[in-house]
Amino acid sequence: MTASPIHTEPASSGGFQDLGLDTRLCRALDRAGYESPMPIQREAIPHILDGRDVLGCAQTGTGKTAAFALPILEHLLDGGDDRGRRDIQALVLAPTRELAAQILESFECYAANTSVRATVVFGGVSKRPQAQILRRGVDVLVATPGRLLDLMNDGVIDLGAVRFFVLDEADRMLDMGFAPDVRRITRAVPQKRQTLLFSATMPREIESLASKLLHKPVRLAVDPISSTVEPVEQSVYFVDGRRKTDLLKSLLESGEVDRALVFTRTKHGANRLVQKLDRARIEAAAIHGNKSQGARERALRRFKSGETRVVVATDIAARGIDVKGLSHVINYDMPHEAETYVHRIGRTGRAGQSGVALSLCSPEERAHLTAIERLTRRPLDRLKTPEGLEAEPAREERSPRGRGGRSGAGQSGGARRGARSGASGGNRSNGRSRRSGGGSKASGGESEARGSNRRPRNASQTRSNSRSSGSSSSRGRGRRPGGSHPNA
Ligand code: AMP
Repeated sequence: MTASPIHTEPASSGGFQDLGLDTRLCRALDRAGYESPMPIQREAIPHILDGRDVLGCAQTGTGKTAAFALPILEHLLDGGDDRGRRDIQALVLAPTRELAAQILESFECYAANTSVRATVVFGGVSKRPQAQILRRGVDVLVATPGRLLDLMNDGVIDLGAVRFFVLDEADRMLDMGFAPDVRRITRAVPQKRQTLLFSATMPREIESLASKLLHKPVRLAVDPISSTVEPVEQSVYFVDGRRKTDLLKSLLESGEVDRALVFTRTKHGANRLVQKLDRARIEAAAIHGNKSQGARERALRRFKSGETRVVVATDIAARGIDVKGLSHVINYDMPHEAETYVHRIGRTGRAGQSGVALSLCSPEERAHLTAIERLTRRPLDRLKTPEGLEAEPAREERSPRGRGGRSGAGQSGGARRGARSGASGGNRSNGRSRRSGGGSKASGGESEARGSNRRPRNASQTRSNSRSSGSSSSRGRGRRPGGSHPNA
C-alpha cells in the first residue's frame, strides 16, 4: 500500500464545519485563528471520524496535532459531554516533555468550550501533582513513555478504558530508545481501539511497529522528510570551526535576526555558547536535558513572548518547540544525521510563514552537509563568509600536482573558496586535529537519548557523500536573498 502524498499549501475552500466537527470545536478553532483546515487535517479527520487507524508520515509544522486531536475530541463529545466518572479514553504518547506539553495545550485550546478534561505527564518534575490530577479523572492523557510507566507502576494510571491511542513523532521515540517502553504501554491498552501513528520518517523500524499496532491503516503522507519545509530559505556559511562564535555574533548583531533558535550538538556546547554570547552582551538562554523542567519552561516562555531573542538548544530538547514568529534557525553545529536537519529547520517557516535556516559548516562537517543535501535534494545557498572567518581550503582542493599549485586556493576570495571548499567535500579524514572550534569540540556526541540506535555513516559512505557534493556546491549562489554580508 502506498501513501497518498498531500500538498502543504493551505486548503482554500471549506471550513472545519464541512468536516463534520461539532460547533463547540469550530468556535474554539475560530478563536485560535484557524480559518480553514490544513491539508493533513482535511485528509486525516474524515478517516479518523470513520474509526480508521491512520499511519501518517508528517513532519512537524504541518498541523498534525489538530489532525488527530480534533476527531478524537469529536468522538469523545459523541459519547456525551456530561460524564460523571472519567476514565482515560485517549492516550497520546510523545517523545519529549516539550512536545507533550504542546500537545496538551492544543487539546485544551480545541476543547475549551467542552467539558472534556485533558492532562499531561512527563518526567523531570514531581509526580505528586500529576497523580492528583489523574485521580480526579481525565478523558485525555498526553504522556512521555517513561513517566507514564512510572505512574502505571504506582497504580495511578489505568489504561483499560483507552479507545484512542496516538503515537506522535514515533521515529524520534524509537531513536530515543523508547521502543521497550512503547511495547509495554501497548500491552496495557485494550486491543479494541483506534490507533494513530505519526512519524516524520518511515524507516523500517516504524513500518514494523506500525504493522504490529495498526489495523488496516489509512496511509497519509504530508511533506515527506526529504522535502524540507518550503518557505524556509536555506543557506550555509563555510567557516573555520574556531570562528563560528564570531560569525554567529555578527549574524545576531546584523539586525536581520528577530528571534533565533541556535542548535548545538551537545548540552555542554549549548552552555558554553550561551556564556560566550553573554560575554558579547547578547542575551541567550539554553534549553537542554540537564536543565530543570522549570528552567526549560521559563526559557521557552520568555522566548515565546519575545523577551529572549536567542535560545541555544540541543536537538532532543528542541523537539516540538513551536514558537510563532521564529525568524531564524541557526545550525551552529551541523547535525550528524541528515534527518535531524529537517527537524531543526521545521522550527521556522511554520504554518506557511517564511523563515531562514542558516548553517555554519566547518571543514570537518562537510560530509554532513553533503548528506543533508542528498536527503533534501536541494543544495543550500552558499553565503559569503566574512573575511577572516573563512574555512581553510581543504587539502584535496589544492592541486593534485602539488600543494598551493593553484592561485585560486589562496587566502582571498572567500565566497569562491566557500563554494569550492564545498565542492571538495572537505571530508573528515582531512580534518586536522589542530582545529578545536565549536564544531570539532562538540563532536563528543554526548546524547540526551536513552541510547540512539543510529550510527555514524561508514567511511565509504562518507567518501561517496564527499564526492557527490561537488555538483551541488558548484551551483553555489553565494548570496543571501535580500540579505547582505553580515558584516557589511
Ligand atoms: P503542528 O504541526 O500540529 O505542530 O502545528 C503547527 C502550527 O500550525 C501550530 O502553531 C498550530 O497552532 C498551527 N495550526 C494548525 N492547524 C492550523 C490551521 N488549520 N490554521 C492555522 N494554523 C494552524
